[in-house]
Amino acid sequence: ATRTAGVVLTDAELQAPFADVSGAGLTVPLADGSTCTYANLDYAASAPALAQVTARVQDLLPYYASVHRGAGYASQVCTASYEGARDVIADFVGARADDVVVFTRNTTDSLNLLAGCVPGETVILDIEHHANLLPWKRNGARVVEAADTVEETIRRIVAELCARPAALLAVTGASNVTGEVLPIARLAEVAHECGARILVDGAQLLPHRRVDLAAAGVDYLVFSGHKLYAPFGAGVLVGRADWLDAAQPYLAGGGATRDVTTDNVVWAEAPQRHEGGTPNVLGVAALAAACEALAGLDAERAQAHERALCERLVDGLSAIDGVELLRIWSDAPDSVGIVTFTVDGCAPREVASYLADIHGIGVRDGRFCAHPLLARLGRPEGAVRASLGLGSRASDVDRVVAAVREFVAART
Ligand code: PLP
Repeated sequence: ATRTAGVVLTDAELQAPFADVSGAGLTVPLADGSTCTYANLDYAASAPALAQVTARVQDLLPYYASVHRGAGYASQVCTASYEGARDVIADFVGARADDVVVFTRNTTDSLNLLAGCVPGETVILDIEHHANLLPWKRNGARVVEAADTVEETIRRIVAELCARPAALLAVTGASNVTGEVLPIARLAEVAHECGARILVDGAQLLPHRRVDLAAAGVDYLVFSGHKLYAPFGAGVLVGRADWLDAAQPYLAGGGATRDVTTDNVVWAEAPQRHEGGTPNVLGVAALAAACEALAGLDAERAQAHERALCERLVDGLSAIDGVELLRIWSDAPDSVGIVTFTVDGCAPREVASYLADIHGIGVRDGRFCAHPLLARLGRPEGAVRASLGLGSRASDVDRVVAAVREFVAART
């Protein structure tokens, strides 16, 4: 039995996925012409759909119709599903009563949308995914270099926020490269003390940890359906309405307006203001189903399960000569199921291809859309990332560790 954060898990539990996900037991081809069961260790890129999500999409498909503008029964069903999803998501993230839920295509879209609404300067860290870096840099963001401890990083953020007024601090909840988690409630406090709001990029945090916007004092949160056990194509921006209402609509077009004449437009308020065009009704329904399913899980056991698997992965990989794990900080308060590593003298693609072609294991390699961070960590050529989630089991972890060990042995 394994004890993690006070929860005792049996070996059988560690071998069982924590929830039913699509793609479990998938058979994939190998380089020698044989096949094997796929081991998905690429959850951080896109997580497989939960069974509840697949069921919701199947239920809604027969009612495929336009939202908002149709009087037919199918339109009513779609509109109710789409608008009802806002409440589900608001509940899931503990939004304040006057926060708005804007549906977008993904986290990148949500961040670009918000970047067009901020009435002032934004402060960011240099460790961010490009999605939480480039929209702000385009607006002249002030970039703080992360230190090698979270404590010192927070001191640097405070110094930057105090040096000159800023409207927003935009930070990630969990690094997509190392899985390390930042203390967002504390960052919210320091941002507010300096007169700034805070945005949290929840793309990697939300699949693993619950966030309560009101309790944590977070002003804006963004995340993607496809990383949260729903299909591609739907994302969210949740947060305070005033900046969103004051800004130009993100997309000019139908659905974003209240009235249009030949020489005047009266734009709607948020969220409709920023949702021009026909929305992704099925994607949004799937995302809401994922939030409901995640809310219904025993979060403590799910986290303990993932933590135990993650520790197994870290211990297994660390014991292999020439394998090095990447970390940003020495004092991160928490980590989600992401483990990124390099193999001495080997290109990341070579390692990832070996895992895929010889062992049927899916991982990600490269620079993870975080080029400045990889350069800072001394890995400009990239690394290999293994990531876990609700469908993961101990045997998947053991397969990766054994395959990397075999790869290293074959090269020495
Ligand atoms: N932010 C983080 C931390 C991410 O990991 C990712 C995707 O990997 C993104 C933002 C962008 O997400 P999307 O590609 O869904 O827009």
